[in-house]
Amino acid sequence: MDIQATNNPAGGEDAVEPGLLSDDGAKHCLQMLSDAGLRPTRQRLALGKLLFLRGHRHVTAESLYAEAVAANAYLSLATVYNTLNQFTEAGLLRRIAADGIKSFFDTDTSVHPHFYLEGEDLLVDVAGGLAFSKMPVALPGHEIARLDVIIHLRRKRM
Ligand SMILES: [Zn+2]
Repeated sequence: MDIQATNNPAGGEDAVEPGLLSDDGAKHCLQMLSDAGLRPTRQRLALGKLLFLRGHRHVTAESLYAEAVAANAYLSLATVYNTLNQFTEAGLLRRIAADGIKSFFDTDTSVHPHFYLEGEDLLVDVAGGLAFSKMPVALPGHEIARLDVIIHLRRKRM
């Protein structure tokens, strides 16, 4: 692949080259994008391959950007941010705000509880789920849409 031809620091969208669709993973991503109503640009396909071909994952824009750099995907951090937001709006990802600033993006879009490992900047699923014995009544004129649970963990002091 010609690096110059695919390097696009402005973060704009360019067309998919036919060579990018030569493997099954790319075809799977292409189908996912078109099912979600997203035009399959090179950037979306490159990030989709990192996100959706390895089971359920929790990523931040920064961690996905580092993976894209390692995979020679030549994307800017801004493009990664924009693409994650587009995937989220299209229903392919769920955004989870674990702390005040940073968002995680979950490829499992179902509602499920998480552990957030403070200081390690990791979000992982709670195995086995979680049970509540008392749910509050919603405010008048409202219903509970979902219950997001993030359990913050920190290392024990030895
Ligand atoms: Zn999760």
